[in-house]
Amino acid sequence: MAHQYRYVIVGGGLAGASAVEGIRAHDRSGSIALFGKEHHLPYDRPPLSKGLWLGKTTLAELPVHDEAFYKSQNVHVYLGTEISAIDPKKKEATDADGTRFLYDRLLIATGGTPRSLSFGAGAVTYFRTVDDYTLLNAAADHLDEFLFLGGGFIGGELAAALRMKGKKVTMVFPEEFLLQRVLPPDLAAFVTDYYREKGVEIVSGDVPTGAERANGKRVFGAPSGPTLDEGARVRVELCRPLAAKDRL
Ligand SMILES: Cc1cc2nc3c(=O)[nH]c(=O)nc-3n(C[C@H](O)[C@H](O)[C@H](O)COP(=O)(O)OP(=O)(O)OC[C@H]3O[C@@H](n4cnc5c(N)ncnc54)[C@H](O)[C@@H]3O)c2cc1C
Repeated sequence: MAHQYRYVIVGGGLAGASAVEGIRAHDRSGSIALFGKEHHLPYDRPPLSKGLWLGKTTLAELPVHDEAFYKSQNVHVYLGTEISAIDPKKKEATDADGTRFLYDRLLIATGGTPRSLSFGAGAVTYFRTVDDYTLLNAAADHLDEFLFLGGGFIGGELAAALRMKGKKVTMVFPEEFLLQRVLPPDLAAFVTDYYREKGVEIVSGDVPTGAERANGKRVFGAPSGPTLDEGARVRVELCRPLAAKDRL
C-alpha cells in the first residue's frame, strides 16, 4: 500500500526545509513528507568549509530547524531515504526500497553534487556534506599532507582551513589562478599569491588524471574540481612533489 501526502518534498537541504515554511504559510494542515538522502535533518552547508574550522560554529548549530519544528509543523521527515523514481502521471514517488508515496504536489529540491572525476574511486573524497566534513576533520587529526583538487571557493576555503592547522597543503586546479572563475583577474592573481605566501603549494593550470589510496592517505576533491577528458592526461607529472612521497 502506498503512503499518501498532500505535499512531497524530495531533498533534505536548505531548499527543502525552506519549502516547509513556505507551504505552511499558505496551508496550515496539508500533510507534508520531506525526503532526505542524508541521515541528518536539513542543515546549512556554508559552515562546513568556514565556521566549523574556525570554531565559530558547532555541528549542533548546523540544522535549519530541530526535530521539534518538523513535529510541530506535522511534517513526516524521512531521513536516509533516497527517492529513486517519480511517476508524474500517477503522482507517485518511490524510494530505493520500493516503497511508494502518492502526492498532490511535488517539489524536487535535490540540490547539487560535486563534479565527479573519472578516476580515484576509493582514493578521492568529495566534499559536500556534514559527513564529509567529519571525515576530513578526523583525517586532519592524524594526517599531515592534503591535496585539494579544485580552485573554487570550497577548495580554497578548505585548503586555508587545513593550512591554518599547520598541514602541508597542495592545490591543483586547471585555471591559472585560484578563484579565477569568480574574481577579476588581478584579484584572483593576488589571492593566489597570498595563498602561496601562506605556504600553500599551488599547482595551477594542471589537471591530475589519476589517484589512488596509498599508505592510508587520500585525496580530497572539491565540487569545483577539474573537468577531465582525454586531453587532461598531459602534465600529470606536475603532481610529482606530492606523488613522490604519497604516490597519488
Ligand atoms: C562546503 C560548502 C560551502 C558552501 N558555502 C556557501 C557560501 O558560503 N555561500 C553560499 O551562498 N553558498 C554556499 N554553498 C552552497 C549552498 O550550500 C547551496 O547553494 C545550498 O546547499 C543549496 O541548497 P539546496 O537545498 O538547494 O541543496 P542541497 O543543500 O544540496 O540539499 C539537497 C539535499 O537533497 C538530497 N537529495 C538529493 N537527491 C535526493 C533524492 N533522490 N532523494 C532524497 N534526497 C535527495 C541531498 O542528499 C541533499 O541533502 C556551500 C556549499 C558547500 C557544499
